[in-house]
Amino acid sequence: QKAEWAKLVDSPSETKDGHTVELAANIGTPKDVTAVLENGAEAIGLYRTEFLYMDSSDFPTEDEQYDAYREVLEAMDGKAVVVRTMDIGGDKELPYLELPEEMNPFLGYRAIRISLDKKDMFKTQLRALLRASVHGKLRIMFPMIATLQEFREAKSFLLEVKEELLSEGVEVSEDIQIGIMVEIPAAAMLADQFAKEVDFFSIGTNDLIQYSMAADRMNERVSYLYQPYNPSILRLIKNVIDASHAEGKWTGMCGEMAGDQTAVPLLLGLGLDEFSMSASSVLKTRSLVRRLNLTDMQALAEKAINECTSSEEVVALVEEATK
Ligand code: PEP
Ligand code: MG
Repeated sequence: QKAEWAKLVDSPSETKDGHTVELAANIGTPKDVTAVLENGAEAIGLYRTEFLYMDSSDFPTEDEQYDAYREVLEAMDGKAVVVRTMDIGGDKELPYLELPEEMNPFLGYRAIRISLDKKDMFKTQLRALLRASVHGKLRIMFPMIATLQEFREAKSFLLEVKEELLSEGVEVSEDIQIGIMVEIPAAAMLADQFAKEVDFFSIGTNDLIQYSMAADRMNERVSYLYQPYNPSILRLIKNVIDASHAEGKWTGMCGEMAGDQTAVPLLLGLGLDEFSMSASSVLKTRSLVRRLNLTDMQALAEKAINECTSSEEVVALVEEATK
């Protein structure tokens, strides 16, 4: 099977009836780009920049960050790279950044909440990203956005930093899409409003599921509630995709669900534009996409959303439709 998949490295990610999607990969460090290219991913849909901070004994400098971002953009040679600003907090700590003791770290001080609070740290990252932007096709994405106000504040700060660079005579790309991760149910529900202001969405199902089901993604005792195929989750995803398309924007997904072989037929049917997963899942997913029909998957997704009352019913439906 692996040999069959390997033949698809340069093939389009296209359904039998001619619908094309983008299959992208997630990375944590510049070294991961090799596997991205070897596996024929068409883009990087999530660069988790927090590893740059976690692998360092002090805040990474602007130049260190610039070097890493530039390396990834150049290696991708014009293919899109979605870089997520740092997502520290939750379960991810930094030895050199004192974080408060919290009752519920996953509901606490993390990601964009820290960035908007510690503007010096945020500015260093944004300057590095904007300087690197001329070396490839950069997209910038903010994690853990709950409200439009947070997005507006992050975006206007980004534009401020850009003006500052330009006034220093530094070149910055004029073609950078700015988007958000949708991983908090509040943002998924207001997707129609967000869609007017963002360039794209990327759904972070790892967090979106834990927050929707109120079930800690690290806690085994409640792992039965971690249900990607639950109709409630599918409805949230549909809301986001439909809202983006109504405004001519695109929606990707960079949580584990994007490379899940049971979820892919449903996500295709819901109209997901970009699937970002671990590089090792790209070829198998391309093989699957090429065996499916978009129109059939649309009917499948509609049925799952309107008629199924549980995750198990959805799985049975998908198995029946794709066997
Ligand atoms: C997610 O929440 O789905 C996601 C991709 O982000 P992370 O797993 O890094 O929290
Ligand atoms: Mg997340």
